[in-house]
Amino acid sequence: MSSPRQFIFKRKSLRKLFSGLFLDYHHHRQDKGDEIDDDWELIEVQEEEFPGAGEEDIAVDGQDSDVIDFPDHLPFPSFNFPETIKFKILGKADVRQLLEDKISMLCSIVPLSRAQAIVLLHHFKWDVDRAQDEWLEREKKVRPAVGLFERPVAVTSYASVRPCGICPEKLPGNMSLAVSCGHQFCRPCWTEYISKAIGDGPRCLALRCPSPSCGAAVGPDMVDLLVSEKDKEKFENHLLKSYLISCEEAKWCPAPGCEYALFSFGDGDSSNNVTCRCLYRFCWKCTKEAHSPVDCSTVDKWMSEMSVQSENWMLANTTPCPNCKLPIEAIPGYKHFEQCTSCKYEFCCECGAHPSNHMVTEQYWQYNCRLDNSLRPAGFHIVDGQKRELAKKSLERYNSYYQQWVTTESCRTDALTDLKLFHEVQLPMLREILMIPPKELDFLVEAHLQIAECWQLLKWAYVYVYFLSEEERLKMPLLEFMQGQAEDLVKLLHKHVVELKHSLLQGDVPIKRLKDCRNNLVQLTGVTRTHFDKMAMALNSRLPEVVFIPTPSTRKMSRLKIWQEESSSGDSPSPSPSPMFE
Ligand SMILES: [Zn+2]
Ligand SMILES: [Zn+2]
Ligand SMILES: [Zn+2]
Ligand SMILES: [Zn+2]
Ligand SMILES: [Zn+2]
Ligand SMILES: [Zn+2]
Repeated sequence: MSSPRQFIFKRKSLRKLFSGLFLDYHHHRQDKGDEIDDDWELIEVQEEEFPGAGEEDIAVDGQDSDVIDFPDHLPFPSFNFPETIKFKILGKADVRQLLEDKISMLCSIVPLSRAQAIVLLHHFKWDVDRAQDEWLEREKKVRPAVGLFERPVAVTSYASVRPCGICPEKLPGNMSLAVSCGHQFCRPCWTEYISKAIGDGPRCLALRCPSPSCGAAVGPDMVDLLVSEKDKEKFENHLLKSYLISCEEAKWCPAPGCEYALFSFGDGDSSNNVTCRCLYRFCWKCTKEAHSPVDCSTVDKWMSEMSVQSENWMLANTTPCPNCKLPIEAIPGYKHFEQCTSCKYEFCCECGAHPSNHMVTEQYWQYNCRLDNSLRPAGFHIVDGQKRELAKKSLERYNSYYQQWVTTESCRTDALTDLKLFHEVQLPMLREILMIPPKELDFLVEAHLQIAECWQLLKWAYVYVYFLSEEERLKMPLLEFMQGQAEDLVKLLHKHVVELKHSLLQGDVPIKRLKDCRNNLVQLTGVTRTHFDKMAMALNSRLPEVVFIPTPSTRKMSRLKIWQEESSSGDSPSPSPSPMFE
């Protein structure tokens, strides 16, 4: 770790932000026997400033008043998550009801069937007012555009046996069907056509008649009549999703198989995270897994970093075969012979020429590479050593961060698996052992959730550090310290949760002591939450407390300075902070 002299702390904002953390950092360095410059000023921290000391930091049994009340079948109770977006969670039935309200509203004004109203509303992106105005004012134009024909365009056949427009079957009249255009097809052909479209995705919502270049809409009435229950459900899901996509303030939970929708009330930063009832926590802006403290574009950058680094790997570890150009795993430029795994051509890795062009002395690997341009195969380029070294360094750095990212992700997944096990197996057992109302054990669920959330932040903090600019990397000692401390805290919380669960399941905790155990864990969960909130805040603001002054010669900090708070610098009227020590 670098010397603390590399930092300048602006006391005022630092105290606000870190309170306990900074004090710990100071003590930590003293414990390690590091010499601390006299210029350091120990920032006094009031007891109540220490994270978690305040009762208000600890949320217990919190109910989000904006969340619609759901019956008991819900997987988890709702907890107070530290989201700043105000949102409510709706189940599929609620979204269906909202959709039905729109359909009924339109049908009460415009003389259309339910199926026709759905086709019209889907066309106008579920905007009832617009659909109604367009229909009432320009019905003649709107009808062909949405595919609701006024009268059939196909020649009506009154024969008792009609041919199907797709297959060679000739069917009795009552076995063939048509939409508003009048093109007749047999039931099996219709069923196959619609089922395939449903399987293909949301395009089934704008499905047209199978007759070539016919624009008649195939509405939900045909779906209800012809396809399997499973396909009907899929069709409805597409319909509900199309409705949600049309509302800017709504999002379907992106977790696979989750049927909840989230509605935001618009106030709050759109880059915030939300947590669905299924416990999937995601970014409201990009709907990817929650990724604070990094922003959405950094997540994309991290994901594409893998391909950037695979190019670096090729550069650092392979040489293209001079004969067939296949990359051969061999350190380029390092003097030795290689044989191509594909064409079996033997070549010198330094110059690309065949071994026969080299003066081999004593042993095969001891030879003189003449690097004679005339012998170097055409197209064999000597890899720039400096470029290769850079690629190697960049790759090593990436690998170490990637490993940590993967490790923290597996800790997070483990925490969620623990929670699932606890909720489905251990919680019902505990209710029987302890004979207490289920709510009394919510604090354990909350502790589990907190652990998962902490690992999520730690995971993306590695990506945050990875993408720090060259200059910002000077902040790394403080960042690493924060990460280490946060990791210790979440491990401590995990240890306590595991131990308490074990004791409770063994029946080792008398009911009288449960209250104390509960209070202790609630407090530790609160302390952990506060600590992580502060860490997220510090990272989001990119640690403005740490400032670097490059000196002309070294561009590195030479001396620690602690700036006086503007308010306390009595003799300095200047608004710029004046150095306290020189
Ligand atoms: Zn047919
Ligand atoms: Zn048609
Ligand atoms: Zn969900
Ligand atoms: Zn995002
Ligand atoms: Zn080859
Ligand atoms: Zn050579």
